[in-house]
Amino acid sequence: MLKEYLIKIREFYHQNLSFRSLRVRIFLIVLVVGTVPSVAMRYGIMRNYEERAVELRTAAVQSQLRIIADHLINEDYLAMQSYPGFSAEYSGSSSFKVINAELEMLSNLYDGRVQIISGNLRVIKDTYAISEGKTIISEEVIKCFMGESLSNYDDRNGYIEMTIPIIDNKNVDKEQETTGAVTVGGVKQPDPRVKGVMLTSISTAYIMDTMDILNRKAIILETLMIMVIVAIALVLAVVLARPFERVTRAINRVKEGYSNESISVPDLTETEHIVEAFNQLLQRMKVLDDSRQEFVSNVSHELKTPLASMKVLADSLLVQEDVPAELYQEFLEDIVSEIDRENRIITDLLTLVKMDKKVSGLNIAAININDLTELILKRLRPIARKKDVEVVFESVRPVTAEVDEVKMTLVMSNLVENAIKYNKEHGWVKVVLDADHQYFTFEVSDSGIGIPEDCLTQIYERFYRVDKSHSREIGGTGLGLAITKNAVLMHMGSITVTSTEGEGSTFLVKIPLNYIAQ
Ligand code: ADP
Repeated sequence: MLKEYLIKIREFYHQNLSFRSLRVRIFLIVLVVGTVPSVAMRYGIMRNYEERAVELRTAAVQSQLRIIADHLINEDYLAMQSYPGFSAEYSGSSSFKVINAELEMLSNLYDGRVQIISGNLRVIKDTYAISEGKTIISEEVIKCFMGESLSNYDDRNGYIEMTIPIIDNKNVDKEQETTGAVTVGGVKQPDPRVKGVMLTSISTAYIMDTMDILNRKAIILETLMIMVIVAIALVLAVVLARPFERVTRAINRVKEGYSNESISVPDLTETEHIVEAFNQLLQRMKVLDDSRQEFVSNVSHELKTPLASMKVLADSLLVQEDVPAELYQEFLEDIVSEIDRENRIITDLLTLVKMDKKVSGLNIAAININDLTELILKRLRPIARKKDVEVVFESVRPVTAEVDEVKMTLVMSNLVENAIKYNKEHGWVKVVLDADHQYFTFEVSDSGIGIPEDCLTQIYERFYRVDKSHSREIGGTGLGLAITKNAVLMHMGSITVTSTEGEGSTFLVKIPLNYIAQ
């Protein structure tokens, strides 16, 4: 039941978008926090007043009744009234008149009714003169005969009913006087000192009237207060939500392209944080945009260079007449090598783009790295031989790791190929394969030209080459290390380089033996 109710509230909340507005929430919160305590306070004060007024009135009437009860005993009113014969004789006596007048006065004063009930539960006096002579058997009266004074407030009908015992302490033997009410076998017995009971009910109309007046005044005050609170809530809702609107406007300006400057809304710490995060995002987007533009211009440039060379070669053949066949042969060979270069660049670019898009993902399998290294070195040794570079492989221990074979081949062959390409005549390349319980390391050292220290961080960038013309001469595309680093990172590994210009470089790749999914 409660769950259904909560679901309904949630649905209503989601359907009514206005509840999700910060402005509406602030307004409602301030309104509730402002009004609920004042309503509760009014209710509490009114209740308190009512209780107190009833208490005071009851106490006042009870004390008067006790005085009259004493008079009744002193004047033997009960005994006289109980016997019609005596009653007729004595009813005219002055003390009776005084008591009757006292009772009338009391009932007039408190707008109530007093009934005096004798020991045999008969009403011997009723200020309303309705029940005289009748018998009353009510719980309150019986209890009162046992010595208890009771009072009961009936707020619905607006009266207080109370019973007061009429106690005679004079005509009781000593024992009874001290014991008072008696209990026999767990059942309370009537108190013999109680000669009669005064059953009184008084109207609380006076208290109700006062409460009505108070309530009306409180409601007027409360209405005024609520009006002020509504005004405060409205102002707060507008003022507190305004900075967020400013943030939205500022972001929209950037989105619509009027400005691409960093935005600033320092009104609140929260808006400052949002704006800071947005500015950082903007900055990143700018960097990405710049690097994309740079990449596109680099790609076009790299792709155009072999085309330009081919055009120059072809043009020079065309403008000449009677070109010897050897020259044709030579130029066509150059054109073919340019086509190869173009092809290499496109292949490398496609590899990179595939890695970036992650469409290919990783094809992880447990691979024997020693065998893989041997295979790669076998493929590259002919190139090394051409440059008279010696390639040495040192396998410290057998390594099997969970890797993508194709991508790992790219990593290893790029590093070894670079070590051969950027080497000196009669140089050497050393490949060391080692592992601990977590990672395997693949280290490629060479005795080559080395890399200047200030270029060490840039060599992984796309199309970056320390010496452009030298790299191009030896067939580099500037994409090899970018591909290598990407592949290493996809395996959650790391790549570091140390190098001394003119002496050689060492690349160290560290890859987890067990593939850790991202
Ligand atoms: P490239 O296809 O030009 O070799 P890479 O991305 O593989 O492109 O390398 C980037 C640049 O880093 C190279 O142009 C070269 O200047 C430098 N480099 C890479 N490896 C070595 C090395 N072992 N020794 C010296 N320089 C190197």
